[in-house]
Amino acid sequence: MNPSTHHAALSLPLFTRPQGCLAVERFMAQHSYPDFTPRAVLFDMDGVLFDSMPNHARSWARVCTDFGLAMTPEEAYMHEGRTGEATIQILAQRYLHRPATAQEIERIYEAKCRLFNACPEAPKMEGATEVLKRVAEAGLTIAVVTGSGQKSLLDRLEQNYPGVFAPELIVSSKDVRHGKPHPEPYLLGLERVGLEPWEAIVVENAPLGVEAAVAAGIFTIAVNTGPLPESALLEPGAHLLFPSMTALAQALTPPQP
Ligand code: MG
Repeated sequence: MNPSTHHAALSLPLFTRPQGCLAVERFMAQHSYPDFTPRAVLFDMDGVLFDSMPNHARSWARVCTDFGLAMTPEEAYMHEGRTGEATIQILAQRYLHRPATAQEIERIYEAKCRLFNACPEAPKMEGATEVLKRVAEAGLTIAVVTGSGQKSLLDRLEQNYPGVFAPELIVSSKDVRHGKPHPEPYLLGLERVGLEPWEAIVVENAPLGVEAAVAAGIFTIAVNTGPLPESALLEPGAHLLFPSMTALAQALTPPQP
């Protein structure tokens, strides 16, 4: 790869550093792309823009257990990114040995949303504002690709990050037939920003989200903002891993002259 052609990538200091260069080399070796010229960053929402996963995990565990589908908060982290329906179906097969009915799915998902909305409001993820600022400064387009359909959080994107996310550049569970780990959400994200896979970057915190982004052929940065081991994000193919959004923000910050 010829670095002089990577103007957009070079506007992100991350890719001028050895760690970033190596990751791009690995990414290019996996694909037969003409180039790597990122023009957009597709952000996952829960666990990336909002520190909302503890509330989601607790709500899922409580509601599922109430409905006879035992689930621990730890397991909820492994399902993150799936649609609510897909998660409920996995548990129904395991405990009821049959598919859940449409009515059961609706009741469980409604109860989960009610409980989630009763939780203390999830704060913005520490470091997320700085990451978004760096990406915008580098001239890249910002989009959201979330497996969530939680209206309360989708509405908060504009309140908490005013002017950052164009409504047409937010892909939610309502827009897709298949949730993560299927690549459809990220492929739709690419379509919305009008770019090819080698022209975008994904930021994800969930194993299934990383799997979806990698399956869509996009350079994937994992941020490990939850309780999972690093291997849970590296095994599905993350190209870079940071321990937090704050650490990612630092990697995106130009060196001081
Ligand atoms: Mg997430």
